[in-house]
Amino acid sequence: MVHGTVQKRRGVFASAGVGLAGVLLLALTGCGGGSDGASSVEATRAPSGGTSTAAAKPAPAAKPDTPGADPAALAAKWNLKPFAAPPAPPADKPIKGGGPKPPVVEKIPTQEKIVFITIDDGAEKDPKFLDMMRDLRIPVAMFLNDTYVRQDPEYFRKLQDLGATVQNHTLSHPDLKTLGADAQKHQICGQQDRLGELYGKRPTLFRPPYGNWNATTQTVAGGCGGIGAIVKWQESMQINDMQYVGEKKLHPGDIILAHFRGPSELKGTTMTEMFGNMLRKIQAQGFTIARLEDYIG
Ligand SMILES: [Zn+2]
Repeated sequence: MVHGTVQKRRGVFASAGVGLAGVLLLALTGCGGGSDGASSVEATRAPSGGTSTAAAKPAPAAKPDTPGADPAALAAKWNLKPFAAPPAPPADKPIKGGGPKPPVVEKIPTQEKIVFITIDDGAEKDPKFLDMMRDLRIPVAMFLNDTYVRQDPEYFRKLQDLGATVQNHTLSHPDLKTLGADAQKHQICGQQDRLGELYGKRPTLFRPPYGNWNATTQTVAGGCGGIGAIVKWQESMQINDMQYVGEKKLHPGDIILAHFRGPSELKGTTMTEMFGNMLRKIQAQGFTIARLEDYIG
């Protein structure tokens, strides 16, 4: 139902040209349609989102990876508090993955105040984001297209070395619902092979571009080898906040969709500014970040 709605809405946007807000919504949810109207997109910088003070913060004495570096000082570089360690992952993973038709996961069933961050596509490769991840060491899952990976595979290897996981988002980001089985296999299994070769491990999760999938997608993904689940999302990262599903708050187990994006797509905001804004919103709601792969297996 959601897929049909999203498709229809995207079609309306594309054909009617709904102005800047609508264009921005499409730009920021290019992976996946989003869930609601343009009104939830913040098109301007938040007056009190903390971004104005971020640049003024002095760099702490501790350097990234310095033994004994103070986590509070490292987080303060980004105008954040250190994230609480997530609870120990459940011994029995709540989502049972795998099989010839991998399950489609929209959120993780849990009572803990944890959320999961996914970052898609791979267009923007901001070196400062490497610094941010080195300082914060939060778990993120990267759903990557070969279109962007091939531009600089090493960038994502560096993130992998910092704990990010590499997951499958097709070779070139088509709408899979418009493709037949062979073309879907090329897109999904082709990227599965490619990422396995590049990063030494076949992805365990797959995210369809725009969140669009059908029964063929499920069967094809199940046959590529290694894909345990098809992962969708709840909230999506915007410039100053998130676009929420329903009421504007996070829920335990929510999966958040973010993108590698840069100033040209973000009204001048950088990847680290936008990501920092999102992390502050997560902290303000009392949540911490857990590793998606610890809950699907
Ligand atoms: Zn995408």
